Amino acid sequence: MKLKNKVALVTGASKGIGAAIAKYFAAEGAKVVVNYASSKEGAENVVKAITANGGTAIAVQGDVAKEADVNRLFEETKNTFGTLDILVNNAGIYQFEPIEQVSAGTFHQQFNTNVWGPILTIQAALKLFGTRGGNIINISSGASNMPMATGSVYSASKAALDAITVALSKELGGNNVRINSLLPGSVETEGTHTSGIMGSDFEAKLVANTPLGRMGQPDDIAKAAVFLASDEAAWVTGEKLAVSGGIYGF
Ligand code: NAP
Repeated sequence: MKLKNKVALVTGASKGIGAAIAKYFAAEGAKVVVNYASSKEGAENVVKAITANGGTAIAVQGDVAKEADVNRLFEETKNTFGTLDILVNNAGIYQFEPIEQVSAGTFHQQFNTNVWGPILTIQAALKLFGTRGGNIINISSGASNMPMATGSVYSASKAALDAITVALSKELGGNNVRINSLLPGSVETEGTHTSGIMGSDFEAKLVANTPLGRMGQPDDIAKAAVFLASDEAAWVTGEKLAVSGGIYGF
């Protein structure tokens, strides 16, 4: 039980990587807030799976890019569990499009969710961490280190998130707050299915350029998140941990 008695909030945990992180954290003894934007049923299913396994979790709706929603999300966390130890900024949007098609809409949607959202949640989390400190994991992307064609805005948003990780590791280390980026490679999730990546030539290219020769699964990422959240990573902050099957871009 690496996270026994810890309280963790995972954004975008109704499906995909976030759902796996929520389940793994609960299995390690954490009480988990399962945040979602619109998939109430998905979030409730994650809570059901956790409680069926003897764990504790609640589902709380909230768009991370909206300050009022974030305030409500953390208020509900405080009202239910009294405190917060771990924040995972997982909620994110990826859109691959040629530069000619980039619009103010697609730019702001990705930056609002992937960058402004984590800023809002970190500000709120710091108030709950208090003087004990806490632990923040930003789910970035391999696309931050190795931008690919048609991914200019998405990669830029994740590179911005990584910059926030490093800056805040310096700003908050003295408050006993650790903060790290976790950079997944290509992972099979609801998102990569609905965006058409799974089954496409793009997926075939991703797998061909992955030394371990397969798409990742959400569990691959959740195991690394448990490490970063636990005391096993007590001396780790400001890092960018790639969990990617070794993909080096193409
Ligand atoms: P996914 O299957 O599309 O799930 C996205 C989750 O984020 C959902 O729970 C969704 O909630 C939530 N979400 C989206 N916008 C939100 C918002 N504004 N406020 C709160 N929640 C929001 O995504 P995924 O593939 O698991 O990816 C999760 C994270 O990993 C993202 O940050 C992504 O950039 C990163 N990542 C993914 C891959 C990959 O290959 N899958 C690779 C590298 C990095 P609702 O369902 O309620 O809308």
